[in-house]
Amino acid sequence: MRSVPTWADKIQDAEKQEQCIYDLCFNPNGLQLIVASGNRVLVYDTTDGTLIQALKGHKDTVYCVNYAKNGQKFASGSADKTVIIWSSKLEGLLKYSHSDAIQCLSYNPLSNQLASCAITDFAFWSAEQKSVQKHKINSRINACSWTNDGQYLALALGNGAISIRNKLGEEKGRFERPNSPSIWAISWSIAPDEQDTLCVTDWNKSLSFYTLGGKLIGKDRNIGFDALKVKYFSKGEFIMICGSNKACNMYTKDGIKLGTIGDQQSSWVWCCAVHPDENFMVVGCQDGTIAYYQLVFNTVHGLYKERYAFRENMTDVIIQHLITEQKVRIKCRDLIKKIAIYKHRLAVQLPERVIIYELYSNDSNDMHYRVKEKITQKLDCSLLVICGEHLVVCQERTLQSMTFQGVQEREWLLESPIRYIKIIGGPPKQEGLILGLKNGQVWEVHLDNPFPILKVRVPSSVRCLDLSQRKQKLAVVDETGLCQVFSTKDGELQYQEPNTNSIAWNTQYEDMLALSGPNVLSIKIENFPAHKQKLTGFVVGLSGSKVFCLSENTMTTLDLPLSGPMYQYIENKMFAEAHRVACLGVTEGDWEELAHSALENLNFEIARLAFVKLQDYGYLELIRDLQDRQRKGDNNHDVMIGDILAYKGKFKEAARLYQKAGQEHKALTMYTDMRMFDQAQDYLGSNDNTTLIRQKADWAKNINEFKAAVDMYLSIGDTKAAIDILGEQGSADQLVEVGRKLDKAERGPLIEIAEHLKRLDKSNAAAEIYKRLGDSAAVLSLHVNAMEWAQAFSIVQTQPQHKELVYVPYAHWLAENDKFVQAQRAFHKAGRLDEAFHVLQQLTRNAVDECRYHDAGYYYWVLGQQCLELTRENDEMLPKMLPKYRENERLAGIFYAYHSLHRYLEEPFTSFMPEALFNISRFLMTEITENRPKGISLFNVLYCLSKQAKKLGANKFTKQILDKLQSLKIPAKFQEEVELATISARARSYSDPEDLLPMCYRCSTYNPLLATSNRCVNCGQKFVHSYVSFEILPLVEFHLEDSITDIEAVRLIETPPGDKDHNMKDEWRQEINENAETLQLDADYEEPKDPFTTRMSFDDESNKEIATATLNRAGLLALDSSAVLICKHPPPLRYQFYRNLLPDLQIRLCDYCFKAFHVDDFELQLLQKGHCPFCRSSSETQNIIDDEYLTF
Ligand SMILES: [Zn+2]
Ligand SMILES: [Zn+2]
Repeated sequence: MRSVPTWADKIQDAEKQEQCIYDLCFNPNGLQLIVASGNRVLVYDTTDGTLIQALKGHKDTVYCVNYAKNGQKFASGSADKTVIIWSSKLEGLLKYSHSDAIQCLSYNPLSNQLASCAITDFAFWSAEQKSVQKHKINSRINACSWTNDGQYLALALGNGAISIRNKLGEEKGRFERPNSPSIWAISWSIAPDEQDTLCVTDWNKSLSFYTLGGKLIGKDRNIGFDALKVKYFSKGEFIMICGSNKACNMYTKDGIKLGTIGDQQSSWVWCCAVHPDENFMVVGCQDGTIAYYQLVFNTVHGLYKERYAFRENMTDVIIQHLITEQKVRIKCRDLIKKIAIYKHRLAVQLPERVIIYELYSNDSNDMHYRVKEKITQKLDCSLLVICGEHLVVCQERTLQSMTFQGVQEREWLLESPIRYIKIIGGPPKQEGLILGLKNGQVWEVHLDNPFPILKVRVPSSVRCLDLSQRKQKLAVVDETGLCQVFSTKDGELQYQEPNTNSIAWNTQYEDMLALSGPNVLSIKIENFPAHKQKLTGFVVGLSGSKVFCLSENTMTTLDLPLSGPMYQYIENKMFAEAHRVACLGVTEGDWEELAHSALENLNFEIARLAFVKLQDYGYLELIRDLQDRQRKGDNNHDVMIGDILAYKGKFKEAARLYQKAGQEHKALTMYTDMRMFDQAQDYLGSNDNTTLIRQKADWAKNINEFKAAVDMYLSIGDTKAAIDILGEQGSADQLVEVGRKLDKAERGPLIEIAEHLKRLDKSNAAAEIYKRLGDSAAVLSLHVNAMEWAQAFSIVQTQPQHKELVYVPYAHWLAENDKFVQAQRAFHKAGRLDEAFHVLQQLTRNAVDECRYHDAGYYYWVLGQQCLELTRENDEMLPKMLPKYRENERLAGIFYAYHSLHRYLEEPFTSFMPEALFNISRFLMTEITENRPKGISLFNVLYCLSKQAKKLGANKFTKQILDKLQSLKIPAKFQEEVELATISARARSYSDPEDLLPMCYRCSTYNPLLATSNRCVNCGQKFVHSYVSFEILPLVEFHLEDSITDIEAVRLIETPPGDKDHNMKDEWRQEINENAETLQLDADYEEPKDPFTTRMSFDDESNKEIATATLNRAGLLALDSSAVLICKHPPPLRYQFYRNLLPDLQIRLCDYCFKAFHVDDFELQLLQKGHCPFCRSSSETQNIIDDEYLTF
């Protein structure tokens, strides 16, 4: 702190006698100063020291003055024993008196009650109370002070004691101070946390602090003089004490002396006061001097990069990290005179010593300092610098380096006083310093070199200087505010800027200088014009985009917009530099500008870095592509720029550049890629317009604008592409339309259209096209595919060569629809006999595999019919086909029967009667014994037979069957059952019931149950079974004499009995005689014997061949037609004739398969199934066989 004299006065009386100033005080607003001088109270204007008024009222020396805190009045006390209360308008308000001289006055800070103290008493006065309350006291009161809360008044007594009084004047405490001399000055602290601390001085030259309770705080300090006045200020941080030392000293609140304020006076200083705003103070002296000073608080600080160390409250060092905003405080408890900071070192100079601190760690953000060394020396210096291992002290022209132990190492003497020192770094013990001298010289000094080097010279005293980051440039500001920047290499002046008060190079960027001037901050790069912005204060540091400014004793960190400098570089196409500036911190927008500018100037490296920063991968891709091309030698500038512009969407400009480079095709591609076909048109060049339209059409197709695409394709004659789209889209109508416009010669497209139409089920439309193309086969297949058989067959009628095209698929279709007979016929019509057989055989096999034996039987029957039919069409087929027919017939019967047996085995609860099952299984046994068809299980047949036989009591037969079964491989699940049956059968009698034995109706022989064929063992007559119950029917077949045709035989049989005349009877008889004589066993008969009932002996083996009766015409005539059944087989088969030997038993034949049935059975089946159970024919189905398409 410095004090600058503002004004002074010296008071003398009329006789030029010095008038001691015993007391003075400011009014609360600080505009007036009240001074006790001689008999008068003087009022000064504080601004310039004008005496406003000299108040007269006292008759003797005025000892004390005091202003009320509310500013309404003040009081003066005098040796004339009176107290006068004055108004703020300087009028005497009232006067009261004590019994002796008034020593001191103090207004209560809260109640504005006035305490007036004299030698033997003290009093309280307030405007509210009319009387003055007086309190006696046994010692002289030299000083008094109210506590800050106005509750207690401390009285300093001439006997060295302190008396604490409450507002009523009662003594509440008393500090006796043995052997203490008189106390002349006391004051309660005003520090917020120490308000009950009383500062006491006495005439033993000591300074002490007490609590309200009278406890001594710390210890007494000797201040070296007798104090007359104590005043706290600066929020209680400091104390001013004046007295016999003829000066006013400043102390910390702990009593540490900080220095002297104002000048040394020539007499005792009796009083002092601090202006309410604390910028001014005043002292009053014995010799009448009133000295008024301005207080200037010097900034004691140091800065190294982001660390700023400064003094606070005179005794504390605050280290502020300007980036992290962290702060630490070091309390030195002594007046700090200088602070120096460098790297991890901090030096603090105190009056008697220098303390060196260091950081705990190397962490750039560490803020923990510890004491490293103490140099106990009193140094006089104007500048202090700390280096790695040295302290550098500067005083006037002298620069000294010393170790941390206080040993002086080197001394330099310069031509002129040193004004500014900047440490420029270097290894420890060799650090360099740049010195700015009063004479304008700038020197460089190194700690290990005794010889300074003159760097540059400026016209006037150096105010400050700074060296750039890489030490390439030196900026010097002189006293006139001119900043000059020199190259350090040759000392050449690079540029200069006027009106500068402070400078700082960017510690992260060589070429950037910050300059502060009056209310302006300039940023300068290279020698471009400086960028200016508003700023109050001084720039002291610049790091990246952070600028450190000192303004009104506080350091602030500001974000520096670096866009300006960056744009300057960009304007000058200095992209690398612009990038480096950008790296210090610019906005996203600035980065974009840099990126794009660099790119447009083909500075790919910087552009790449900028786009990486922006994370714009699209542009990075583009740059890589351009760089690739560049490497391959594709260096056309216009084209590259064009590409960049195109990428940015500046198509017009890009196209123009492509054109300029003679590469119109790139423009064309660009526009067509962008679907900007109109613009593309302008760059067609030699290219065919067709290409463009095709691209346009392709695009339209891609974006599903199919109609437009089709129109465009058609316009350029690309019918195929149009058709493809229409086909994909299923636009049948349009396809037809396109097809109609096409010439017949354009087969390819027409066929494609037809194919599409076909696929779209528009067979008529497709057919139309095929017809135009004359492709009737295709038309046919269309109809076939659509199963439009009528249309198909109508074409075949005129073009029989395509018959196969229709019949085969038709047959398949029929077969798929279970119309096998029709299918067969269709195959026949198509001439595909093999196919016909094959399909049916396959169906048959499938049916067997799937155990659909009734279906298998049916298919065999159909197969048999086919065989027959073939013979009818082709006589040569007869020898081959007839056995096939018979075999199929046999199989049909077997599978038909086996179906029922199978069902019984699979589903034991069938409705079949045991007799029926017995008959069926016995029928099967006889049929398969010699030739078992694949798919029929002999075991099943025998097993079923044995069970039924047992049920029916045919024990012998059961045993026989079981014996047969034993020779077969018995399925595991039946094994036990068969064995049990075999054992139990042994217990029964070995015979069969006679009514169960099959009787031959031809020869009346009972056949054994166990048989290997379906013929009579005696006569060889084939048994005829009912095809429902499979019992043996009383039918006996007869043959015709060779000369009789089937038709004649039928006529003869059907001749009514009345027409059968006697002649014929004779003939009949004669015939019999002639033809059947060998049948006669008995010679004497009247009537010819019925050849069917004649019991015949077939002992002669040769007779078996003729077991079948053969009838002549008379025989036929004699037959009762109702007892004759005729199987009217179609050719080439002959009719078969049967006689029913039990005419009461009604039997009928199926009209189609000629199987025999009991009438009741057959009619029931017809009712249930609607057709013959065996051949599935009915009058109805027979009609369907004659399918409408097969009737040609
Ligand atoms: Zn027989
Ligand atoms: Zn039938």
